Amino acid sequence: MTNLELKNRDLDVLWHPCTQMKDHETLPLIPIKKAYGVYLEDFDGKCYIDAISSWWVNLFGHTNSYINNKIKEQLDTLEHVILAGFTHEQVIKLSERLIVLAPNGLKKCFYADNGSSGVEVALKMSFHAHKNSSKERKLFVSLTNSYHGETIGALSVGDVKLYKDTYEPLLIQSIQTPVPKDMSLEATMEAANEFEKLCKSRADEISAIILEPLVQGAGSMHMYHKEFLVLVREICNRYGIHLIADEVMVGFGRTGELFACQSANITPDFLVLSKGLTGGYLPLSVVLTTNEIYAQFYCDYNEHKAFLHSHSYTGNALACAAANATLDLFERDDVIEKNRVTARYMSDKLSKFKELKNIASIRQTGMICAIELKGYKAEDRIGLKVYQYGLDNGVLLRPLGHVVYFMPPYIITLDECDKMIDTAYDAIKSLL
Ligand code: PMP
Repeated sequence: MTNLELKNRDLDVLWHPCTQMKDHETLPLIPIKKAYGVYLEDFDGKCYIDAISSWWVNLFGHTNSYINNKIKEQLDTLEHVILAGFTHEQVIKLSERLIVLAPNGLKKCFYADNGSSGVEVALKMSFHAHKNSSKERKLFVSLTNSYHGETIGALSVGDVKLYKDTYEPLLIQSIQTPVPKDMSLEATMEAANEFEKLCKSRADEISAIILEPLVQGAGSMHMYHKEFLVLVREICNRYGIHLIADEVMVGFGRTGELFACQSANITPDFLVLSKGLTGGYLPLSVVLTTNEIYAQFYCDYNEHKAFLHSHSYTGNALACAAANATLDLFERDDVIEKNRVTARYMSDKLSKFKELKNIASIRQTGMICAIELKGYKAEDRIGLKVYQYGLDNGVLLRPLGHVVYFMPPYIITLDECDKMIDTAYDAIKSLL
């Protein structure tokens, strides 16, 4: 099989995610034969560094032998069982471990099978918890420029017009309060004041605020100060509004702490995790919440009070085995500490981008780096040019608009960092 043969077979039968399929008349579609470490290898034998961790999921490299073996062991024991009325060892162990690792006070785990579904769970639970306390709060608040997934509820609380506009008539009620416009404390205060103003006038209608702590991923890797999380937590407490932390992307060490909320020392009412949860192996998500929220649903049978939400693959045993193996690696390899070395190395290397005239800003939070370009219009499609340059030179970069970013698996070596960052540098320079 060659790349070309597989590309033609694929385009006959597949419709790819987040893609204008006509682009593939000119844009290559790359069939991947195998993957190991940070590398993806295609059917023509060409290798690419996966600088975006395959949509931000992979933590410890592809076909990691430790995770592989744990999944194989599980496969011969129990592949899946319904999680209503039944349970299994992997899901219990995973829940026990997450509760120890997560911000203090999160004591119950509810599972789903992808990030968007996790967000749906948190939104529904928040609304339902208020309802069980005889309050009807139909409104959700999110930050401008936020992204929380593609299902109707998750899309409703997002604010990236590209994904949302078309479906506007279908969406549930949400309003946006400004995200801090930069990392400064001044911008932090300004945004917090706006949120407080909104709460003053409409708190009785608001169920929850949902936010991506510290870094807005699909919002072009926009970053803000951790103090904003502290202030939002205080405001939520004052007005009886839930705080939903969507750590689908930033969770599991991406921002430098295991969970981004921990850098601000706050506990949300709901913490949504997915992506890195299984090390990037299998679809799984979990919503952690407090005993207080849990208690609002706990009563003698009443069909309106129980949380009657389910997905067929909720708490899948193979996915939970992958998640437990992922947590083993965090423990075994002192990953958070090692990442600090890699993050510092990337930070040093990023400074050379300052000399390029088409750079608007350079940002970094932990293991997430972003370089924003300036002087281009949307129709220039420079993201596509950088993407293409990266592929030609063996690096998978996937810019978001005019923002080139790196979010590599944690096992990336410093030499591989050099190759990844130097290729992006040359790509950006080639645009001048
Ligand atoms: N929330 C955030 C912050 C995300 O980045 C994403 C996915 N990129 C989601 C939710 C949705 O997750 P999924 O794609 O697994 O549905």
